[in-house]
Amino acid sequence: MKVFCASIATETNTFSPLRTDLSDFYESFYAPPGMHPQTPTLCSAVFPELRARAQRGEIELVEGTATWAEPAGLVSAQTWAHLRDEVLDQLRAAMPVQAVVMGLHGAMIAQDCVDCEGELLAEIRKIVGPDVKIGASFDPHSHLSAARVDNADIITVFKEFPHTDFVEAGVACVDLTLRAARGEIRPVISVFDVRMIDVLPTSRAPMRGFVDRMRALEDEGAALSLSVIHGFMAGDSPDLGVKMVVITDDAQAAGDALARKLGQELFSFRGRARPDFLDPRTALDKVAQSGSGPVVVADVWDNPGGGVPGDSTIILRHVLDMGLRDIAFGTIWDPMAVRICHAAGEGAQVKLRFGGKTSDVAGDPVDAVVRVVRVQRDAVQSFGASVVPLGDSAVIEFQGVQVVLNSTRSQAFSPDLFTNLGIDIAAKRALVVKSTNHFHGAFAPVAAEILYCAVDGPYPNDPRRTDYKTLTRAIWPRVEDPHSADGGA
Ligand SMILES: [Zn+2]
Repeated sequence: MKVFCASIATETNTFSPLRTDLSDFYESFYAPPGMHPQTPTLCSAVFPELRARAQRGEIELVEGTATWAEPAGLVSAQTWAHLRDEVLDQLRAAMPVQAVVMGLHGAMIAQDCVDCEGELLAEIRKIVGPDVKIGASFDPHSHLSAARVDNADIITVFKEFPHTDFVEAGVACVDLTLRAARGEIRPVISVFDVRMIDVLPTSRAPMRGFVDRMRALEDEGAALSLSVIHGFMAGDSPDLGVKMVVITDDAQAAGDALARKLGQELFSFRGRARPDFLDPRTALDKVAQSGSGPVVVADVWDNPGGGVPGDSTIILRHVLDMGLRDIAFGTIWDPMAVRICHAAGEGAQVKLRFGGKTSDVAGDPVDAVVRVVRVQRDAVQSFGASVVPLGDSAVIEFQGVQVVLNSTRSQAFSPDLFTNLGIDIAAKRALVVKSTNHFHGAFAPVAAEILYCAVDGPYPNDPRRTDYKTLTRAIWPRVEDPHSADGGA
């Protein structure tokens, strides 16, 4: 059995002041055919699993390109056309194949193409014909369109947020697609449109219990696969929102019923799945009153992992206004300020302008006389077993606060983002990090307390107010009862 695989992935925040082009893919992760590393990336876990099966003699594998760009703004039309055609040409050259397995993210939007993954799967289907099995793995923060469901035989999605199970989802995608290609199963996909958008961390109730039950139902054989698409509120897509996906072995009616039942349960979670998001004054008052540090304060919406620049100064301004000391910020993205700090050198005093430069909604730039405490070429942090680049970075200090300035955008994943640069986190009253929830795993063990702090910025964080152009379906919270006859019209 000959199998083709490829991976094209990014998460597009259509409201971001940033844009995305080929250089962003090349800089973040780009592996031409045969050059994929042995270790998986978030959206390419199908590669190592397929290689293992090829080595066992189970399949003949033809690898296409695998690439990923750090979440940012709209993908240019030329970039999307280039990457799409690159992979489709590789597939044409590999024909005939019996199966195609794609590692996708699912929230990529390009200029003139609102559903990149749907278009890609439809083009793949045209090339391989109706009988070849197509599998795709997705990040839950994605948009599930009819084009994807119509053209894929298997869809798997990370169940966990934080996405600790991305390898498991890739393995499941490979396994089910190959079983279908061998005729052992006849997968049919059932989807229930939950018609809501929310933040659904699985590290806490009620989503924790829901994911545990999805796994139990899979183990019991109630379905071949169960998945929840969480949706991505910063992507203006007609398919935006939560969708329940059930794959059964040739049991459409039972799958539809299970998807509806579980989807209705998900709808009942609306508004109560996320932790309390505090305003900055409330969060920082708690920091001021805290006896033992460090309190970890998440700047939940200025999260570069959600496609914004990550240079908001709003919480920093509150800290300075309140006169709080012994606070460390990680990170504020400002390559220009980093360059000035590197030129000045460690120990230098500099009159520096930093942060707040890429939009008019993330606070003004901060102007201060700062001491350059540390400069570092190619700084990194860890995320589980993977190493995440921060680019050239600098630590500056003024008025009792230290700020990590970085030049390669990344959300905060791990305390070693501070300690790798010599910051003593135990001596800090608070660590302010830019991340919605992925920070939680690694910071929880060192945190006296974790606070989620919400300030407005370039991330469209209130779907009721966001000016969506292509989203026309009624979804909660834009509509109170989107499942009623008129509310769902
Ligand atoms: Zn995600």
